[in-house]
Amino acid sequence: MREPPPAASGVEDASGPASGAVPWHALSTERAFERLESGPSGLADEQARERLSRHGPNVLERQKGEGPLKLLWRQVNSPFIWVLIVSAVLAVVMGKVTDGLVVAAVVVLNTLIGFVQEFRAGKAIEALSRMVPQNATVVRAGHKRAVPAAELVPGDVVEIAAGDKVPADMRLVGSRNLQVEEAALTGESVPAAKQPSVVAEDAELGDRTSVVFGGTLVTSGVGQAVVIATGGATELGRISEMLSEATDLQTPLTKALASIAKVITVAILVVSVLLLGVGLWRGYDLSEAVVVAITLAVAAIPEGLPAIVTIALAIGVQRMAARRAVIRKLPAVETLGSTTVICSDKTGTLTRNEMTVQALWTPTGRYTVTGVGYAPRGELRRDGPALSESLLPDDAKELLLAGALCNDAALEGGDGDWRMTGDPTEGALVVAAEKAGLRVEESRARFTRVDAIPFESENQFMATLHDDGREGRVLLLKGAPEVVLARCELDGVVSREDVLEEVERLARRGMRVLAVASRQVPEAKDQLALEDVGGGLELLGLQGMMDPPREEAIEAVRACHEAGIVVKMITGDHLATAEAIGAKLGLQEPGMPGVAGAKLGALDDTQLAHVAESTNVFARVAPEHKLRLVRALQGRGHVVAMTGDGVNDAPALKQANIGVAMGITGTAVSKEAADIVLTDDNFASIAAAVEEGRRVYDNLIKSLAFVLPTNLGLALILLCGVAFFPIQDIGGKAVPLMAMLPTQLLWINLVATVSLALPLAFEAREPDVMRRRPRRPDAPVLSHFVVMRTGLVALLMAAGAIGLFLWEYSRELPAVGHARALAEAQTMAVNTVISFQIFYMVMCRTLTGSVRKVGLFSNPTVFMGIGALVLLQLAFMYVPFMRRIFGTAPLSLEAIGLSVLVGAVVLPAVGLEKWLRGRKDGGPVQRPRAREREDEDHTPPPGRRERLPA
Ligand code: ATP
Repeated sequence: MREPPPAASGVEDASGPASGAVPWHALSTERAFERLESGPSGLADEQARERLSRHGPNVLERQKGEGPLKLLWRQVNSPFIWVLIVSAVLAVVMGKVTDGLVVAAVVVLNTLIGFVQEFRAGKAIEALSRMVPQNATVVRAGHKRAVPAAELVPGDVVEIAAGDKVPADMRLVGSRNLQVEEAALTGESVPAAKQPSVVAEDAELGDRTSVVFGGTLVTSGVGQAVVIATGGATELGRISEMLSEATDLQTPLTKALASIAKVITVAILVVSVLLLGVGLWRGYDLSEAVVVAITLAVAAIPEGLPAIVTIALAIGVQRMAARRAVIRKLPAVETLGSTTVICSDKTGTLTRNEMTVQALWTPTGRYTVTGVGYAPRGELRRDGPALSESLLPDDAKELLLAGALCNDAALEGGDGDWRMTGDPTEGALVVAAEKAGLRVEESRARFTRVDAIPFESENQFMATLHDDGREGRVLLLKGAPEVVLARCELDGVVSREDVLEEVERLARRGMRVLAVASRQVPEAKDQLALEDVGGGLELLGLQGMMDPPREEAIEAVRACHEAGIVVKMITGDHLATAEAIGAKLGLQEPGMPGVAGAKLGALDDTQLAHVAESTNVFARVAPEHKLRLVRALQGRGHVVAMTGDGVNDAPALKQANIGVAMGITGTAVSKEAADIVLTDDNFASIAAAVEEGRRVYDNLIKSLAFVLPTNLGLALILLCGVAFFPIQDIGGKAVPLMAMLPTQLLWINLVATVSLALPLAFEAREPDVMRRRPRRPDAPVLSHFVVMRTGLVALLMAAGAIGLFLWEYSRELPAVGHARALAEAQTMAVNTVISFQIFYMVMCRTLTGSVRKVGLFSNPTVFMGIGALVLLQLAFMYVPFMRRIFGTAPLSLEAIGLSVLVGAVVLPAVGLEKWLRGRKDGGPVQRPRAREREDEDHTPPPGRRERLPA
């Protein structure tokens, strides 16, 4: 094969714009190392630092999901805004220039507010994607370590394994069963096999099997590779359009609201036309009638609503992130609130993932191990004194040694500060060996490892091949007892049944049990294949380790039950272990059976649906079982949140309504498939996210219940005026009496409504938010509650405003004349509506019960909103410039007092409504119901009844 001549400065070439010129795939690994001035033991730290400053960080400039122009257009392109724009033009055409300009100003203002808010929300959500950092395992100066992927430089030697996202473009130097899915780059979703052998120089991107590309996903196997290009110089970096990671701001709720908006708009247009007809019929001038019709449109359309919804969602996203659940897909914020089942992994999520070996079993005896944690302080006992290495029977020593050799974990430190790197299960085995006085590091040096088959969940074992210190090799196998036992030949001292009984005994105490076996391999074999571990092994014994449940998980499980959410544990562990831990976590009663994955496989879909619903502990579960479980539960109407960390969990994560990935231990593949990522891998964070999801939804309903009555109330005020108010003959012109001017209606609809509704999006969660049943996902946004409330409050508001308008007008007319009396009466009507809104907003702070429930001062933005509005309202009445635009007049203190008093009527009225509703059906959202009503609900009841067998 022809190789290009080395460049003057190989590294410069490697990641510069010209890197495409170097056919890395056609270079031998030695040549690749040479050109990158690197080698199998990687770069020195100094070199890496220097290259980082030269090449810059290994990050890709992401394209914005939505350009600012497009976002701006989306603000304008809503039915609400179109109606306003047409209204403004019509008003100007009809000679009402001021009105037209005010409407136009409102359009601009509304668009800008919406734009700024959504832009900020989008940015906030975008920033979240950076909260889940990507790490890479790199070899520097001969030592393996984890560094942020952003710090990789050309020449770095990187290790990749199944589940990883390839961090940069790299030339493979070693591999084992390596398969990479390159859909991000080539669109091809079938994984491609990769290995280091040189390929033809003219091979297409998809055929360059000796190179792995940044952004692609490792689906199986392991590999070692040297970085050839980073950041923007990678293949993915060049085709930047592939990266437009859209931060979609649409969710089911915003879509539902958008269609409601359309209906409202059409309805308003129809009513406007009717109003035009009524006005003309009653003898209005054409221009007056048109203005009234326009005014209605302007008054009744809830223009501020879309912005409020987006803001509430964005606040939800940020709060969830603060509680360690990073949202990757915005709709999850809403879906979380209606979750009915959470299926969670066990190890590390519900438990601490701090394993400690507590029991050993060999064919000749049982031992207990004392001490917890990774400090190898503790002892090994067997009915009596502690056993040091010298006192330890040979078979126990062999068991411990094999467990520590067939093992990738390492224990570091000393004197009270012990750290473990690697898999906690393996760490526990190392600690147990050290407790017995075995020197693990020394043993590893003596019995050097020749090859290994790494642990994979599907296999449930790990195997290693070692130099036995003499002529031959020794093969070690450790893994799930059933799997290991099936490969062992027992010598007759103990039977298979004896061993399985021992496993049960340990597992019932909640321990994870590993079996360890070995086989002498006479020939000097260098490679380990799956066939080598097929059989003929000698069982060395069992090690039982404890992984205690997380305290906060026990608490979170209880909270979920109270919230009507069923928690199911799905684990790769042994059934008895899972049942014991499940009972400790309160998932089920002690002694209640769980189900093993093998049994699930044998069930048809109907049976599976039944078992899925009635069982809370699933053991020895394979990824494909997860997928079936999710489907079965969904088939029963559940909204399912499912956790997953492995490569093969991706389909189940995608299928679940909420796919939850683990930020620390999860693979890149699982994170990519998930809707949310837990930055602390903790079950409690899922419960927290559900709580936040419910709060967001509550607050949206609160905003809706606040905004809609105002719009309907304003429309009623107008309708009432046109239909019933007298038409006066002023200077030979028919002038209708109007309770409010169009500009005044706009003032209320935008300034007041937005400054009061926005704070509701920040409202704290209601104390009983986790004591209600989950929201039905198909429940309409405009629920019975919202509709009734809108009607009630709108009627009250219209009655109060019209009443005070008429009172003020008739009182002032004789003294000051028509024009002045009208301005004062209109100002009075506006004032009444606004004080009404202020009181009503306070009532909206909780959906049920009194405001004291959430704490009067728990949401400071409420007072900021009210304060701002009061100041604006004073300006509205007393600043001459404002008076001119809005046609208002200054009011006396007495008149203001009266309008406040009438506004306060809403307090007892809505209070009574809440009380009646609370008595009748327990609130706008389903609360825990009495037993006889359970059958109406689509979710099974929470708590004990549900968890006990029938
Ligand atoms: P969960 O699903 O609750 O998170 P898990 O994912 O830790 O559990 P796996 O890692 O799939 O479960 O482990 C399944 C079984 O494989 C364990 O019960 C154990 O018997 C065995 N096992 C786990 N880790 C190792 C290991 N490092 N080496 C050998 N066998 C292991």
